[in-house]
Parts: sequence; structure tokens; C-alpha cells
Amino acid sequence: MATIFSRIIAGEIPSYRVAENEKFYAFLDINPLAKGHTLVVPKQEVDYLYDLDDDTLKEMIVFAKSIATKIKSFSGCKRVATVVLGLEVPHAHIHLIPMNSEKDVDFSREKLSLTPEEFSEIATALQK
Ligand code: AMP
Repeated sequence: MATIFSRIIAGEIPSYRVAENEKFYAFLDINPLAKGHTLVVPKQEVDYLYDLDDDTLKEMIVFAKSIATKIKSFSGCKRVATVVLGLEVPHAHIHLIPMNSEKDVDFSREKLSLTPEEFSEIATALQK
């Protein structure tokens, strides 16, 4: 069965798309730690990030870099944290999270509750 992220990439489940090319898809995390929290996913359905072949992994980091640059100027954060968990969804992905201090990337914290309008505004800003 396709993962939820493959279904998002296929357009079967809605998402707030930030960027896309032939190999990768980036969209806003629905339970964000901060405004701009984005997931970068390979279209190839692989569970574990480090099971991707070397070239795909390199390209994925370069793709993530272009989005991280936009997140940084959008949020004015000090850095964009690059986090790999993968405990919930078995489809490799990288979290990009605006960060000013270590506590900003504490996944046990309560997540932001954003309206659809807020998600759309953020996605639109990051698409530019
Ligand atoms: P993990 O696999 O532990 O890296 O966590 C998966 C992440 O995917 C979590 O931060 C979820 O909030 C996020 N997530 C799960 N389903 C969706 C969805 N339909 N749209 C956006 N983000 C999602």
C-alpha cells in the first residue's frame, strides 16, 4: 500500500506544496513546530533515508538547501534545523524547521495550530 506521502505526492491527499521537481516534493508539516516547518520527500518510496542511493541523497540535500534558504528569509530565524526522524511515516523525509534555539526543535513540544489560510500564506511565501 502506498504511504501517506506517496498519496500526497500523487495529489490524492491535499497538502500545502512548497516546491517540487521530478524527484522530490516539499510541503508544510501539518503539525508544525514553527511557521515554515517543511517536509522534503523523495518521490521514490523508500522507508529509510540512508537506503536512498548516493546520487538521490545528494540531490535531495541540494533540493532541501534551496527550500531552507527560503525558510530562513521568510522566518528570520538564526538557522534552519535539518532533522530526520521517520518514526511515524515510513517514507524517507527531512524536516526543515526554523530555529532560534535548541528548544525550537523539541518534538515533544506542543505543535502550532494554524488555520488553512495561515498554511496557504506560508506555502505561497515559500514558493517564491
Ligand atoms: P516522522 O515520521 O516521525 O518524521 O513524523 C512524520 C511527520 O509527518 C510529522 O511531523 C507529521 O506531522 C507529518 N505529517 C503526517 N501526515 C501529514 C500530512 N498529511 N500532511 C503534512 N504532514 C504530515
